[in-house]
Amino acid sequence: LKKAEKKGERPTAASFGIEISSPDRVIYPELKLTKLDLADYYAAVDPLFMIDGGNRPMTLVRCPGGRTGECFFQKHDKGMFGEHVKQVPIKEKDGSTEDYLYLDDIRGALACVQMGTIEFHGWGSRIDKVEHPDRLVFDLDPDVGLDFAKVKGAAVRLRAILQDLGLHSFPLLSGGKGIHVVVPLDASRDWPTVKSFADRFSRAIAEAEPETFTANIRKVERKGRIFIDWLRNQRGATAVMPYSARAREGAPVAAPVAWSELDDFGSGAHFSIRDADLLLERAASKALAGWGQAKQALPDA
Ligand code: ATP
Ligand code: MN
Ligand code: MN
Repeated sequence: LKKAEKKGERPTAASFGIEISSPDRVIYPELKLTKLDLADYYAAVDPLFMIDGGNRPMTLVRCPGGRTGECFFQKHDKGMFGEHVKQVPIKEKDGSTEDYLYLDDIRGALACVQMGTIEFHGWGSRIDKVEHPDRLVFDLDPDVGLDFAKVKGAAVRLRAILQDLGLHSFPLLSGGKGIHVVVPLDASRDWPTVKSFADRFSRAIAEAEPETFTANIRKVERKGRIFIDWLRNQRGATAVMPYSARAREGAPVAAPVAWSELDDFGSGAHFSIRDADLLLERAASKALAGWGQAKQALPDA
């Protein structure tokens, strides 16, 4: 009963005043989870989602017909999301300027869900300092069929190498097949500097430990190995945001975890949108305190 009471007190999409049309539309057929279930998930994890999901240029994965229907990426706001989704003008490579969308309030995320959004992917920089990333992400992409234990081992290895450079990092279960190793930055370096670091760092590891890693994006090169997708760290690239739902079977979410507990997880899709209570509880735990928080600059060399 206590649990149910607690659940009742959780904020929902309705508590934020966002109306969800077709609330019973099934988004995840395998679990019969609906558009309203998804909206209520985001409303529940509001304070957690907004830590990283706030004030970044965002790309949405929209699947208006549910996750098994047609899905597409959307990065520009064409004014369809209403007042709660904000715009930030950003210079494109060709010199023109485009409005990117961002969120500064969970109502913006809910308005996106209302428009069929499932996933939220963010830039590595914030809107007030777009040219200076505040995070690096090493997206570990295992070869098809590779044991998840290998992915965990690779993440731990990456952590140790980063630690040798004086960099703290944090593991994120992607909600899919892999793990993202997230390195918070103090936004003191620009995109070319950060990209160059990510590039050289990944190539050096792949060269030193070719039995585990490859820095080559070509799938035929992967062969039992893990691709360090360092390309997430160039201007304009995005990575899935912590606590974002995924448009995949089982309604998984991207979930921050602690290095100390990484061993316990059997896949990158351990948590789902049904775990809002658990995720809130976990986030308040000692193991996850300070996840993703560190003011650190990239080393010079
Ligand atoms: P998994 O663990 O299953 O690999 P993932 O989120 O890491 O899940 P990837 O396919 O490795 O998925 O993609 C990494 C990131 O690249 C995504 O999180 C997304 O932000 C970005 N991405 C991939 N494809 C596109 C695309 N077509 N447009 C924009 N961003 C994309
Ligand atoms: Mn990946
Ligand atoms: Mn990838």
